[in-house]
Amino acid sequence: MTVEKIETDTLVVGAGQAGVAMSEHLTKLGVPHLVLERNRIAERWRTERWDSLVANGPAWHDRFPGLEFDDLDPDAFAPKERIAAYFEAYAEKFNAPIRTGVEVKKVIRNPDRPGFTVDTSIGEIQANRVVAATGPFQRPAIPPIAPKDDNLHQIHSSQYHNPEQLPEGGVLVVGAGSSGVQIADELQRAGKTVYLSVGPHDRPPRAYRNRDFCWWLGVLGEWDAEAMKPGTEHVTIAVSGARGGHTVDFRKLARQGIKLVGRTGTFANGKVTFEQDLAENIRNGDANYLALLDAADAYIARNDLDLPEEPNARDLLPDPECMTKPTLELDMAEAGINSIIWATGFTTDYSWLDVNAFDDKGKPQHKRGVSTEPGVYFVGLPWLSRRGSTFIWGVWHDAKHIADHIATQRKYAAYKDADQRDADKISDIRDAKKESVA
Ligand SMILES: Cc1cc2nc3c(=O)[nH]c(=O)nc-3n(C[C@H](O)[C@H](O)[C@H](O)COP(=O)(O)OP(=O)(O)OC[C@H]3O[C@@H](n4cnc5c(N)ncnc54)[C@H](O)[C@@H]3O)c2cc1C
Repeated sequence: MTVEKIETDTLVVGAGQAGVAMSEHLTKLGVPHLVLERNRIAERWRTERWDSLVANGPAWHDRFPGLEFDDLDPDAFAPKERIAAYFEAYAEKFNAPIRTGVEVKKVIRNPDRPGFTVDTSIGEIQANRVVAATGPFQRPAIPPIAPKDDNLHQIHSSQYHNPEQLPEGGVLVVGAGSSGVQIADELQRAGKTVYLSVGPHDRPPRAYRNRDFCWWLGVLGEWDAEAMKPGTEHVTIAVSGARGGHTVDFRKLARQGIKLVGRTGTFANGKVTFEQDLAENIRNGDANYLALLDAADAYIARNDLDLPEEPNARDLLPDPECMTKPTLELDMAEAGINSIIWATGFTTDYSWLDVNAFDDKGKPQHKRGVSTEPGVYFVGLPWLSRRGSTFIWGVWHDAKHIADHIATQRKYAAYKDADQRDADKISDIRDAKKESVA
C-alpha cells in the first residue's frame, strides 16, 4: 500500500453527483481541493441500482446546467449507465481533482492546530475543511419486522438487479415509492406473481397538458419547498421513467395482475399481515394527483398559456377488488411467496466522520449544508435546502452555496490588518534587495 501525506484546503468525500458538483464550484472559485471516492465516479448509479433503471426525470431536466445529454432526446429518460457516464464526462470537462479507489476511514478535528486529520486507505491527509458528499441513500434500511426465515430470499431494492436473480416463485415487494412500483412492475411483466405493499404516497402525473411533472413542480414552486408539509414525513413519491415514462396508477397495476396490499404489519408462523389502509393510501395518492392537475390548470389560466386540454386525465379506473376487499393476512407458502424485496428506503452512515456535527440520533446538524462544526459541510442530503436537494439538478445549486461559503471563509482567513500589510511590504522589499545583491 502506498502511504502518502497530502495537504489540501478542502477535502470532498464521495464523487457521486454531489461530489462532482462541489468540485466544479470549488474549481470556479479557485479553492484548492481534492475529491476522494472509494469506488468509481457515480458508483451507486453503476452497481446499486437495478439494470433497467432509467432516470425518473427527462434528460432536459435531470442534468447539471453545464452539460446536456447530447445523444438523447431532451424528453427521453437517461439509462442509469448513461447517467454514470454523464458524471464521468462532466468531471473530465473541468479536470476535477478526483482520486478514485480511495476510502476515507476517519475524520477528526485536530486538537492542537486548525483543520482536520483524515485517515484514508492511502494514508493521512490534512484538510482545512471537509465536505461530506457520501450520498443521501447510503445504507439500505430494512425495518425490524423483516422475518428471520432462511426459506425466504430477502434483498433490499439496492441489491435488486433483474428478475432472473430471484428464485422461481412469488415475490412480496414492500414499499411503493418509485423503486418499489418499478421493481414490482418489472417482476410481474417477467411472469412472476407479485404482491405490492402500498403505503402513503404522492403520485404526480408523468405529464399533463404536454408538460412533464418535473416542469410542473418547477413552475409551481414545489421543487423549491423548503420543508416537508407537516404529516407528510412518511409519504414517498411514486414516479417512473420506465418504458418511455408513465404515470404510476395503482388501479392499472392491479388490473395488470399485481396484487396490492396495505402496509406490511407483521410476520409470524409463515404468515404476513397487512394494514387495512390500502384504499386510503390509494385515495390520498389520487388526491395528490388531482391537486397537481388543478394547480396546473390554474397556472395555465393565470399565465394564458396555450397548452392542449386533457380532461381524460381526471378519469380514474374503478376500484379493484384488492381495494374493496383488502387482503389483511397471507399464508406465504400458500400464496407461493418465497422472496421479499424491501423497497423501504435508506439511512446514512457517518461513522467515519468523528466531529461535532450530529444530534443525539446521529442526524447531521446544518443550515443549507453548513454544519454546526466549523469547517464541516454536508451536501446531497434530503431537504438540505429544499425538496430538490437530493436530485441531480438540485444538488448543483446546494453545492454552489456551500462552495461560496467556503470561499468567503477563506477570504476572512486571508485578511490582514494594516500592521500586517506593512510588515509584508517590508519583508517584500528586503527579499527584493537580497535578490538584487545576489
Ligand atoms: C433508485 C434511485 C433512483 C434515483 N433516480 C433519480 C433520478 O432519476 N433523478 C434524480 O435527480 N435523482 C435520482 N435519485 C436520487 C439521487 O440522484 C441519487 O441517489 C444519487 O446517487 C445521489 O448522489 P450523491 O452524489 O448525493 O450520492 P451518491 O451517488 O450516493 O454518491 C456518494 C459517493 O460517495 C462514496 N463514498 C461513500 N463513503 C465514502 C468514503 N468513506 N470514502 C470515499 N468515498 C465514499 C460512494 O462510493 C459514492 O460514490 C435516485 C435515487 C435512487 C435510490
